Amino acid sequence: MKALVKLRPEPGLWLRDEPVPEIGEDDVLIRVRRTGVCGTDLHIYNWDAWASRTVPVPMIVGHEYAGEVAAVGADVRNIKVGMRVSGEGHVIGMRSRAARAGRFHLDPETRGIGVNIPGAFAEYVRIPAFNVVPLPDEVDDEIGAILDPLGNAVHTALSFDLAGEDVLITGAGPIGIMAAAVARHVGARHVVITDVNPIRLELAAQVADVVPVNATDEDLNAVMARLGMKEGFDVGLEMSGVYAALDQMLDHLVVGGRVALLGIPSKPAPLDLNKIIFHQLTVKGIYGREMFETWHKMLAMLESGLDVRKVITHRLPAADFETAFSVMKRGECGKVVLEW
Ligand code: NAD
Ligand code: ZN
Repeated sequence: MKALVKLRPEPGLWLRDEPVPEIGEDDVLIRVRRTGVCGTDLHIYNWDAWASRTVPVPMIVGHEYAGEVAAVGADVRNIKVGMRVSGEGHVIGMRSRAARAGRFHLDPETRGIGVNIPGAFAEYVRIPAFNVVPLPDEVDDEIGAILDPLGNAVHTALSFDLAGEDVLITGAGPIGIMAAAVARHVGARHVVITDVNPIRLELAAQVADVVPVNATDEDLNAVMARLGMKEGFDVGLEMSGVYAALDQMLDHLVVGGRVALLGIPSKPAPLDLNKIIFHQLTVKGIYGREMFETWHKMLAMLESGLDVRKVITHRLPAADFETAFSVMKRGECGKVVLEW
């Protein structure tokens, strides 16, 4: 099969012929149709410090996928050949307190498909049957291929009740933009999204009914005044991984406001904790998706009118992966989907 492989510990990826994975009795083999390219894949492509200490080589990369079940292991009952599926990219352990309490997404022994174990940028991927999520007819393969980041957006956005609330999202990357769409879907009043990249802000306004704000030269206080907001945002969703954005968010939340942190900073930096203490903020860190509550909710919302399709700006054959990574490097895109 064709697969995109991190062959050597240096920048780049290589399209190679690899053996089709063999499956164990509890596994499912998926014929991959569409995959989403993630910021994580870009880190692996660039071979930055995180990638070089995390990813063993050689490694088939990619963890956002949808396709069709090609084979199932002897003990798999509920998944049938031919079903259209996506699936959770975290393969969890079952020994930790969290896993044994059913909070699977918190398991510390988690391994990532396409990071620690062979991934989905390939014609076939093997995953445990436990991880498989069947797709309803309303969710086609390209949306199926972006459920992983949509799940990050949904997990973050649904951390707090957004009905009737004013929401500030920092970072209009694909996940921030999808979180904005989710916030609108569940009934937020105003959704303001900031970025420093005008292309991303324009895309945000196309995908969802939001107020895009350029953090470099627009004043959030003026935006709030224009919207008739007096006391600050009720909920903040940090989706840039940039300290300056978080700092700006903390300055514009209502006393007693709530903040969910998804963005991953590249290195530690100072933060004024007094902004959290004296404003009595609740801050929650978010990792991955809840297994499988987030999956259930996002599919249900997609079936009931949540529309994020416009966040996909590029659809390319897998062989054009270099183009995919170069548009992502420049930030001139929303979600990039590869066809297998
Ligand atoms: P992305 O890099 O495409 O988007 C981040 C956006 O933040 C960019 O558009 C960038 O221009 C913008 N930005 C930069 N400086 C800013 C500032 N000062 N103010 C406002 N915006 C600013 O990333 P993505 O794929 O949308 O993912 C969002 C974040 O979530 C990333 O940090 C990613 O690493 C992280 N992430 C976390 C998890 C998790 O489990 N916690 C999972 C997936 C992604
Ligand atoms: Zn991803």
